[in-house]
Amino acid sequence: MLWRSTEVQINIRATGICGSDIHYYHAGRIGTRVLDPKKPMVLGHESSGIVTALGEGVSKVKIGDRVAIEPGRSCDKCERCKEGRYNLCYDMHFAGSLMLGPNHGSLRRFACFPEHLCHLYVLRKRGVALKPCHKPLIILFCAIECLKK
Ligand SMILES: [Zn+2]
Ligand SMILES: [Zn+2]
Repeated sequence: MLWRSTEVQINIRATGICGSDIHYYHAGRIGTRVLDPKKPMVLGHESSGIVTALGEGVSKVKIGDRVAIEPGRSCDKCERCKEGRYNLCYDMHFAGSLMLGPNHGSLRRFACFPEHLCHLYVLRKRGVALKPCHKPLIILFCAIECLKK
């Protein structure tokens, strides 16, 4: 089920395990943020997958797209979000964390995220091409491919 019309459902295919996941798993806390055993939380926030469903308001992402997820769910209403600096949102709900949560993470088969937090990538036979905001990486991969020839 999608939270908002601008969200997409993703079949999660890979999730990295971060230090914060390990802290929550072993200690049940990070600093003053302590898990409540009565409110379990899904961990994971470094994920990628394949888009499987679209909200009515989604315009850029398509079913079948491979996406990497940006895990901080911003409010889209505060001053920073309106300035385009949503990564500094005052009301950030970060996946797999107790920051204004618990916020369920992405270490699961399906997860929904806002379209603007899903970044497209394309796998190629040789090397990896990322688009559109990872040009330096594309250049690096191209350079490595050229050196191999
Ligand atoms: Zn992390
Ligand atoms: Zn905000």
